[in-house]
Amino acid sequence: MNSFIYIPDDSDFTIYNLPFGIFQKENYFAACTRIGDTVIDLYQCMSTSVFKDIHLEESVLCQRYLNDFIALGKPVTSKVRLILQDALLIGGFFDNDMFKGAGIFIPADDVNMVLPIQIGDYTDFYSSKEHATNVGIMFRDPANALLPNWLHLPVGYHGRASSIVPSGVPIRRPSGQTMADGSVKPDFGPTKQLDFELEMGFVIGKNTEMGQSISTAQAEDYIFGLMLFNDWSARDIQRWEYVPLGPFLAKNFASTISPWIVTLEALELFKIPGPLQEPEVLPYLTYKGPKNYDIHLSVDIVTEQGHEKRVSTSNFKYMYWNMCQQLAHHTVNGCNVRIGDLMASGTISGPTSDSYGSMLEICWKGTKPVQMPDGTERKFINDGDTVSMRGWCEKDDIRIGFGPCDAQVKR
Ligand code: CA
Repeated sequence: MNSFIYIPDDSDFTIYNLPFGIFQKENYFAACTRIGDTVIDLYQCMSTSVFKDIHLEESVLCQRYLNDFIALGKPVTSKVRLILQDALLIGGFFDNDMFKGAGIFIPADDVNMVLPIQIGDYTDFYSSKEHATNVGIMFRDPANALLPNWLHLPVGYHGRASSIVPSGVPIRRPSGQTMADGSVKPDFGPTKQLDFELEMGFVIGKNTEMGQSISTAQAEDYIFGLMLFNDWSARDIQRWEYVPLGPFLAKNFASTISPWIVTLEALELFKIPGPLQEPEVLPYLTYKGPKNYDIHLSVDIVTEQGHEKRVSTSNFKYMYWNMCQQLAHHTVNGCNVRIGDLMASGTISGPTSDSYGSMLEICWKGTKPVQMPDGTERKFINDGDTVSMRGWCEKDDIRIGFGPCDAQVKR
């Protein structure tokens, strides 16, 4: 498939991707997709007959969030994506001089990508076996790194939706209580151990009623798409506060997401089998067919002066518990989900130390600092540093990606 729109070789936004987002230009917000370096205003598309074969209310395309668009359901939103794919081909509907200058095609640099969904609830899982094992070794007992429940259920907790922001929004270093080793009373001040967590998030695309459960077989129908997710964490605050009820202020001050929602349809080609689950899981967590995704992931730290260091190269395929199992577990007790809810994977760590998804693990509790190109070193993230995450899939010359998930830390 070739588009008449120029697509750079390394672009995340090929004709095979066509993710959904919301852009802002002054006071105007609209649903959009992107191909190459061109953003396509879906609201402006309604002034043409491109969507004539589907019932599409134009009001859902000029809102601050995609929730009402997503609520139209996959039969509509998938069709929108396929129509756009066809229309953007050489000789397709939009390959016509009359559409140039019609406000449909906008250079990506001219718009601001904003949070694409109104996030109702945010749940964070803990589904990477390598990550859970690393944390268990560092903080508990190397012989019993995984807690007894870990291999039987996708561990998770309810997070905070209000502080989830899109790529590009600076993060303020949080203050809080910490307890130094050997001390008898806590300190208060800015965290000294600000960390990232490399995660992927998925967006709920269909409501359930309270009392209803989603099976692993139904789960994909309820997942609209995926985005990159940096679950910022303050390790020193976390260590003092997390017993007995789990993470609180160490986690709820900020999370950064990539602003494009890559659809499950676009990711279908990149499905692969997940790790063998042993011991056997309970029947409600069993599933059929490949449910993991081969998504390459990277994390760079960029200093204020622009010195850049890749600190992690990982892959979403390492996840022990897949998204269908997470959703089945989340709803097995009748907990309802709503369109726009966000579920994150938990830190994604691979098997080798260059594939770990947090500074805590990369620097192994501070014992192996990262050397930066400017001669400084990092155990955690400094003020002025930008943490930059990327995610992309490649197969048979087809490439799709997630766009940037970047944020700079401010004092
Ligand atoms: Ca997390």
